[in-house]
Amino acid sequence: MFKAFLIKYGEIGIKGKNRHLFEDALVHQIKYALKPVEGEFLITKEQGRIYIEAQSEFDYEETVESLQHVFGIVGICPMVVNEDQGFEQLAADVTDYLNNRYPNKKKTFKVHTRRARKNYPMSSMEVNAALGEKILQAFPEMTVDVHTPDILVNVEIRAKIHIYSEVIPGPGGMPVGTNGKGMLLLSGGIDSPVAGYMVAKRGVKIDAVYFHAPPYTSERAKQKVVDLAKLVAKYTGPIYLKVVNFTEIQMYIYEQCPHEELTIIMRRYMMRIAEHFAEETGSLGLITGESIGQVASQTMQSLAATNEVCHMPVYRPLIGFDKQEIVAVSEKIGTYETSILPYEDCCTIFVAKHPVTKPSLKVIRRSELRLKEKIDQMVQTAIETAETIVVQ
Ligand code: ATP
Ligand code: MG
Repeated sequence: MFKAFLIKYGEIGIKGKNRHLFEDALVHQIKYALKPVEGEFLITKEQGRIYIEAQSEFDYEETVESLQHVFGIVGICPMVVNEDQGFEQLAADVTDYLNNRYPNKKKTFKVHTRRARKNYPMSSMEVNAALGEKILQAFPEMTVDVHTPDILVNVEIRAKIHIYSEVIPGPGGMPVGTNGKGMLLLSGGIDSPVAGYMVAKRGVKIDAVYFHAPPYTSERAKQKVVDLAKLVAKYTGPIYLKVVNFTEIQMYIYEQCPHEELTIIMRRYMMRIAEHFAEETGSLGLITGESIGQVASQTMQSLAATNEVCHMPVYRPLIGFDKQEIVAVSEKIGTYETSILPYEDCCTIFVAKHPVTKPSLKVIRRSELRLKEKIDQMVQTAIETAETIVVQ
């Protein structure tokens, strides 16, 4: 029934020249999302609108699902597109449309016509009235409600005539690429993929870094992180994932520092290394899945200790979320099932029975001095030997 879609996007804050950037990025992301979908599509921008027209047979469900992953899209409207062959034909097309789309006719409706082509012989008001009459004649069970109709029949008179009534919700947000780039610390847990999703939703392109500790963490654990990155990339586009071998640093901290401080000191080194890559590749901030009080390393004192080593802003979009709320988002975006697979995480391996929950900065800094002999070289090696995986 449908061969085209009207894409609705939020327009607030995208006046002037920002509008072009926003629209171009949106078109770019739509093309990326539709690449794996069966079918050929033509995407056009026209007077503050974006249209997608299928040029061949295509999979409707798959197309809609892919578009629901594109940030910036507020609504997806499946459209019927016809040549203008006079009003009588238009009336027939509209009643056909309603007949196919709404088998149950006990509905209220309103016709809303937009006349982008000003040489059309009737005004929009005249088209509204005349079409309304034709619909009432064709379907006596239908009634008009101009305030809160069940069906808002949109008719747009352009080069061709567009008919649509349905708005399938998109994810909202802003197109990826309109708001710079951020470096996500991505682990195999539930939280960090959600954090990446949330920041990307505001238009931020995402790179990622994962710290693994072979042989204490397995290839499967690493593959799980790659799989999670792949799921996030459905929304963000390709993700450059750095995989850092963290074993040597972790062991060294374990040998030299009090065990109850291990997690905090380790997290400080993760942040330092992540920031190095962020600077190198043009990211403007770090992104983590931390939320206040969730675990010992995420108390206000622990977050202060972790944060101290960063010069860049650290974005923690889940900071005020309860676990349940994070789980709900991860289920919605499709990462939950992968996140709960039981592979070990490098943070959990050497974890102390009683980690500090209120680390003092002074104490942590003093403990880190015990690392001074070898740590810089180890960090350097970790950076130099990191593997880059392009995940898409
Ligand atoms: P997650 O579910 O995201 O793993 P978590 O609740 O397990 O989070 P922590 O393990 O304390 O919390 O990690 C806090 C944050 O630090 C994570 O959200 C992530 O951003 C980052 N992080 C932790 N471990 C790693 C790792 N191995 N590689 C990259 N980032 C990590
Ligand atoms: Mg974790």
